[in-house]
Amino acid sequence: MSEILTQLGEKGADAVLNLTRKSLDAAIAKSCKDAQVSFPETNYYLPLINALLNIEVKSLGDLVKVLKEIEGLNLIPYLGGIFNKGIATLLCEEILAALAVLNNDHPKDGIGFIPDKILRSLGLQLVDGRISGIAVILGPAKDAPSAVGLIRDFQSKGIVSLLAGNIKGNTLQKQLEGKGVELGLENYIVPLGSDYLSVIYAVNFAVRAPLIYGGFKPGQWQGIAEYIRNRVPAFILLLGHVDEVIVATGFGGLAFGLPVITDLDVPQLGKIDTTLFEALVTEKDYKKLPSKCIITRGIKVKMAEVAVPVPYAAAFEGERVRKEQLQVEFGGRASLAFEFLTSKKEDEVEDGKVELTGPDIDRLEPGSKSLPLAIIVDVYGRKMQNDFEPVLERQIHRFVNYAMGLMHVGQRDMNWIRISKDAFTKGFRLKHIGVILHAMLHQEYSAIVDKVQVNLYTKKEDVEKLQGKAKKVFDERDERLSGMTDESVDTYFSCLLCQSFAPNHVCVVTPERLGLCGAYSWLDAKAAFEIMPTGPNQPIPKGRVLDKRLGQWDNINEFVKNKSNKSIDKVSMYSLMDSPMSSCGCFECIVAIIPEANGVMVVHRDYSGMTPSGMSFTTLAGLVGGGVQTPGFLGIGKLYILSKKFISAEGGLRRLVWMPKELKELLGERLKKLACEIGEPNLLEQIADETVATTSDELLSFLNKVKHPAISMKPLM
Ligand code: SF4
Ligand code: ZN
Repeated sequence: MSEILTQLGEKGADAVLNLTRKSLDAAIAKSCKDAQVSFPETNYYLPLINALLNIEVKSLGDLVKVLKEIEGLNLIPYLGGIFNKGIATLLCEEILAALAVLNNDHPKDGIGFIPDKILRSLGLQLVDGRISGIAVILGPAKDAPSAVGLIRDFQSKGIVSLLAGNIKGNTLQKQLEGKGVELGLENYIVPLGSDYLSVIYAVNFAVRAPLIYGGFKPGQWQGIAEYIRNRVPAFILLLGHVDEVIVATGFGGLAFGLPVITDLDVPQLGKIDTTLFEALVTEKDYKKLPSKCIITRGIKVKMAEVAVPVPYAAAFEGERVRKEQLQVEFGGRASLAFEFLTSKKEDEVEDGKVELTGPDIDRLEPGSKSLPLAIIVDVYGRKMQNDFEPVLERQIHRFVNYAMGLMHVGQRDMNWIRISKDAFTKGFRLKHIGVILHAMLHQEYSAIVDKVQVNLYTKKEDVEKLQGKAKKVFDERDERLSGMTDESVDTYFSCLLCQSFAPNHVCVVTPERLGLCGAYSWLDAKAAFEIMPTGPNQPIPKGRVLDKRLGQWDNINEFVKNKSNKSIDKVSMYSLMDSPMSSCGCFECIVAIIPEANGVMVVHRDYSGMTPSGMSFTTLAGLVGGGVQTPGFLGIGKLYILSKKFISAEGGLRRLVWMPKELKELLGERLKKLACEIGEPNLLEQIADETVATTSDELLSFLNKVKHPAISMKPLM
């Protein structure tokens, strides 16, 4: 270990500890010991303190206790004093950040604390490989062009950048914004704050992953540190400036296995016990920096080879093309457009063929910014089935969006595509859409797709004619799906994708109940199994029915028991109260019992207000997640509400007494239709929302007034 680094680190750790003492004393003098401290939208209090020390900090008084513990801290004796001082520094920094929030000094030019819900959405993307790593970047780059180069490189490799720190007021965020780079989570660039203290938000973000997904309890710091080391592919990139506090903080990061890569001249540090490879590495050449980071942290990048003149990666999926940047658009309100994928016979498909009939986007009428567009994709595959067509067709959205400067919204004949001026100037033309679809269908679906050809049409008469044909097929597909019931198949599918985070969680996906994240229908799972026979989606023949009302079968129970590491004995597909399915953390909605109302409520992720259960979505999520069964509470995909099997063991939709207005509107007509079908034509108006009730008293008086059917149903408990 380098003497200089150790000395600097110790100095820094002492300085932070002193500052924390002083700041806490000052805060207590100003407010009082009972003054509340918290971070927004989290169930984990001050997450790092909670995870490592098992203390639930709610007030300034609690922080005094914490500080005492920090002073004598020796969590990881075998690593040596300096690493423990590093951890102590991180813990102090979390206190300082909480005090900054209390004083309204944070967030500072960034999002500050990262709420649980963002962590959940990132978690899912980490599982499915869209995100390959997390770069915690401290300080600005040496100049603005280097900043853009660095970040674009990370984006194209699926690495999310979290930014903190400044040198004389200059930040990476400013450098990027000055060059017109779009920031935000959907673009994989998240400014945490312009001061160095904001780096703590990256740390208390990482430390929640083992709590949410790994099933670890606060205080199990060894397991928690190990989980971060092995499953959170993060590293620290230190640019342009270092001081003793940063060194102390860096030692804290190293204790969790996060290596430091820097453009500064510093003593190098080889592998230590906690890191996979080198602990501290210098690289001055900005062109080589990203790959140095990736190699040092051992990140596996899944990259697509797509021959288009613009950068192509999942990081560009969420990027919008605004009016000012618009070169040309298709569909939406601008023109007639649709996309359509079908399977064909082997000799009808010429692999790699991309043909455009009609004018390209460099031959628009003067003043025009749009064209009609039909995207017709023909695939052939020995293992291709008609049922997979819609599954593959839905990927067009994602694949087109991955191109930088392209925006794709919707599907089928409700699509809307925009191409930016920038992409156009770089040489993007319509045929590149075909190039993308050909490459990506092969790349991701090689198990069922052998040949792909793409035809594009931009003449109105062609598009009109072809659309008529496609529409017929769309209708047929809808009918086939809506006719499918749980009884009509003898095999359900598992999804174990989330086990990499919630090791005991098993989703069972049936035609009438999709996965709780909303991303996997029975058809999707079936297709995924064909594509990857040893993957997370496995067929489960139902076997003998054990209880028809609850929805229990012997084979399903056995499968779940095996795959949940024996933590779940039986699972009811249709019940909320009796052995309900477990939840991992990705659920779109939560169903929760409201005993006083003899019914249930449903709340979706985007609703941040209070619910009549006395809990917000976030608080409920803390109850439901982690891969355990919690009778009375259930994480579900939105569309399950519209299923005839929605908690049918308890009486189904008739039990639904409350849901947020937005969710009601989202399900709208379909919910209304279903209510009519079950003989409750007024149910939609009888279901309360936040405009009439956010407490259980308000809810009860509303339900009585409108005579909600749940009131007179048989008791739920
Ligand atoms: Fe995770 Fe279930 Fe969605 Fe699969 S279906 S990704 S296990 S939430
Ligand atoms: Zn999940």
